[in-house]
Amino acid sequence: MFPHNPGVTYKGQLIVAEPKVLVIDLSTGEIVNIVKQDYDELREFYVITFDHLLISRRKYLLTITFDSEVSLTRRDGLYRSQYFDPVRNVTKFLAATQFAGLNARAAFVCFDEPEFIATFNVTIGRHQSFNSASNSPLIYSQLINGTDSWYWDNFATTVPMSTYLVAFIVSDYGSIESNSSQFEKSVRILAPESTIQNGYANYSLTLAPALLFTYENLFEIKYAMYKMDLAAIYDLMHVRPENLLYHPERDTEKSRFQLSQVLAHELAHQYFGNLVTSEWITGFWLKEGFATYFSFIGMNATVPEFEPLHLITTNTIQAAMEIDVLGDSHPLQFPDKENPHDTENYNSVILYLKGASIVRLMEGFLGWNVLLEGLQEYLRR
Ligand SMILES: [Zn+2]
Repeated sequence: MFPHNPGVTYKGQLIVAEPKVLVIDLSTGEIVNIVKQDYDELREFYVITFDHLLISRRKYLLTITFDSEVSLTRRDGLYRSQYFDPVRNVTKFLAATQFAGLNARAAFVCFDEPEFIATFNVTIGRHQSFNSASNSPLIYSQLINGTDSWYWDNFATTVPMSTYLVAFIVSDYGSIESNSSQFEKSVRILAPESTIQNGYANYSLTLAPALLFTYENLFEIKYAMYKMDLAAIYDLMHVRPENLLYHPERDTEKSRFQLSQVLAHELAHQYFGNLVTSEWITGFWLKEGFATYFSFIGMNATVPEFEPLHLITTNTIQAAMEIDVLGDSHPLQFPDKENPHDTENYNSVILYLKGASIVRLMEGFLGWNVLLEGLQEYLRR
């Protein structure tokens, strides 16, 4: 579970130097002697061997100090992203994260499996020309000792969640905040200042709270996080920025449809994927299938002009069949591979489209009310 061989790249990302490990037995206050530390490259485990067996049910404090780098080549983990600023005619850089799948371990040492739920305390150091955002609200910033222009941003403890949901961004982005009468928590769009000023964030800023309000009512569960920040990342593999930014006079209806669907899908993950998650990555079709299916329901409530309910068949079932017929098709439930990254070679579109088709099938034989009540009950537990 503890990744990274000291000095060895992990898919292009370096954890610099050997992590320093300290284990304290909390019942005696004594340091537990470590005899060996090594790395299981195949399974990405960092293995710590003690001079005696640890005692079951006793509490131990494990502290691991490590250095990690921002990747310049990857587009997941903690990486450098960029955008072009047309006002100043320059390329600007930012640091962003994409941990979904198994990439939190590329940024920090952790128990990086979806079933391990924890709270996180995030502190980010940044130059005064940048700002930062993370899952929970910023509590305070303080000048870093010995500098005159660097700050620590201290964020509130997160709600309990899986590692792959941790996210942060350090950028010179501006932000615009919603004042929705329906959805009372803060919803912000983070994007380059000029795009916000030119009105590109307004559509998402209206749609996102409306979708969150819709899901709260549908599932009868309040949105669990403190706030919602949506950041326009220009090179993110999964979500293109044009799917967060939209201008009614300069963009097409097709982009408005795509943006609506991406938002409806991602925000449905607040329930399927965040509130409940699968034990292991082999079951990720559950979160993707349900989020895809409910994106159509969410759109029907917020952008009914697209007639989304009529599109489920063509956009999921028929589209899924097109891929399913190919030689590289695979079961929805991934077989358990020894190296978890092997599943990354699968065609993940199957998870979304076939997964959503299965949920629609369930709706067909259970009926809408039974499906919804069953899900409400499941999400409440
Ligand atoms: Zn998804």
